Amino acid sequence: MQNNISSLINKINMESKGLGQINIMEVCGTHTMAIGKNGLRQILPENINLISGPGCPVCVTSISDINNIIELSDNPSNYIFSFGDMLKVPGSKSSLYEKRSQGANIKICYTPIDALDFAKNNPGKNAVFIAIGFETTAPLTASLVKKASENNIKNLFIYNTHKLVPPALEFLLSSGKKSNIDAFLCPGHVCAITGSTPFNFINEKYHKPAVISGFSAEDILKSILMILKQIKNSCPSVEIQYDWVVKENGNPIAVKYINDVFDYCDSFWRGIGKIKKSGLKLKPEFENFDIKSKFKTPESQIDEPEFCSCGKILQGEKKPFECRLFGKSCTPDKPVGPCMVSSEGTCAAYFKYEKYKI
Ligand code: SF4
Repeated sequence: MQNNISSLINKINMESKGLGQINIMEVCGTHTMAIGKNGLRQILPENINLISGPGCPVCVTSISDINNIIELSDNPSNYIFSFGDMLKVPGSKSSLYEKRSQGANIKICYTPIDALDFAKNNPGKNAVFIAIGFETTAPLTASLVKKASENNIKNLFIYNTHKLVPPALEFLLSSGKKSNIDAFLCPGHVCAITGSTPFNFINEKYHKPAVISGFSAEDILKSILMILKQIKNSCPSVEIQYDWVVKENGNPIAVKYINDVFDYCDSFWRGIGKIKKSGLKLKPEFENFDIKSKFKTPESQIDEPEFCSCGKILQGEKKPFECRLFGKSCTPDKPVGPCMVSSEGTCAAYFKYEKYKI
């Protein structure tokens, strides 16, 4: 293993010579964590600059959504089912974690089926599943909604915040962000569902290299080497390094689940803004499962906490060290912004693995 890493680093050193600075965005928070954990930033040549992207679902969920979910938890008939990471994200005044400690009905779940089982067994109560994540988790939500529909369950709802990765990358490229992205390490888990095809615009329209990468140190280094070869040979394409999991056409069954239940819609990404067709909304025939329609929750734009740079970090324009709150008033124990909360957040990854630079 060590030999493989050394050999890959040697090859990367050779391929990167004379290329100038290459900015590679790792889109997915799991990649950010793996890069930090394995100290890859420190062993790569100086001209390879890894920048983090918007691939942490908790980080890009709007404050307005967090506030709405917190408000829903004030209603004693509502039982909120959420994955654990969401609980610590600060809303404007509180967090789900604080509400739970004050006695609100907020349950951590490991699968959406927990919400369905609760709904079946508690007909007088509303089970509200917080549907969060990208293409990776959307099929699970779609399956939940289908099952609830088939079983005529009337007290199961979703609070839908699902988002789609390719439109966010297109947004970054088309808006010419200061980060000057030269290439992408694309998210392996998302692509396991979508396949590589939805990412083809990266080379076809923007002439940038992209490699869909696995998550070990070796996978990531191999992917970086593939990117450098594409740059050197001036032949940008979308390649699959994670080829034992990701196929060109993805997982057609999972994609069908998404398409059966959801339509595309514009979506608001925290710290970034509205991105066209980057979200999913329930099709009209499933709208009765939408808690936002039932309780008419508002969608409002709310300012980020003062001095928080999460928006710029999510777009690759800044690194966590460049936020004046990093490691001082913002730590994983007392997060100010979402990038410090999530286990996949960029600031959390830097705090855990690259704290020495504070
Ligand atoms: S250190 Fe905290 S406040 Fe600063 S960008 Fe990261 S999460 Fe936001």
